[in-house]
Amino acid sequence: MNTEHLIETAKSVGFDDAGALDVSKLEFLQEVRDMCAADKCHNYGRSWSCPPAAPSLEEMRDKVKNYSQGLLVQTVGHLEDSLDFEEMMAAAARHAERFDKLWDALKAEYPDLYPMGSGGCQKCGPGNCAYPDAPCRFPEKLAYSMEACGLVVSRVATDNDMKYNHGKDTICYTAAFLLD
Ligand code: SF4
Repeated sequence: MNTEHLIETAKSVGFDDAGALDVSKLEFLQEVRDMCAADKCHNYGRSWSCPPAAPSLEEMRDKVKNYSQGLLVQTVGHLEDSLDFEEMMAAAARHAERFDKLWDALKAEYPDLYPMGSGGCQKCGPGNCAYPDAPCRFPEKLAYSMEACGLVVSRVATDNDMKYNHGKDTICYTAAFLLD
């Protein structure tokens, strides 16, 4: 698919914005992994999708060498105010649904695509990840978050001419697909 077709496909599953991702600009940083270890999101050591289960920075740097094309996608939620947790959760759910749909739409043409999501995987429900006692229940749908991979999401967006901050009382979820 050319870039235009990729963007159209992303918009057709509902994403609010989509654009080409320049794979050569991705930087996998220890400081981001260190922020994960601070466990502010309560996913560190509790999910197969997050550190320390996520690939190492070296593995990520090696992995991107296999990809020449990428796609960045966003879901934007418009909040009534900064405490509008209902819309924050609803936007996250919309984003997760769109992410799965786009993954399905792209995998026929890109069977080796590498998806990177937003935040820890919530497929089994909050606090119900099988980690570390049992294998992931849906390994074919396991995506590491961009942060878990060591990426500064705001920087990835701006490096690729996409907005990260969509204005007052908005929330933005960003995900990426590496395509060979
Ligand atoms: S699919 Fe379930 S077991 Fe696998 S990472 Fe997600 S929450 Fe954990």
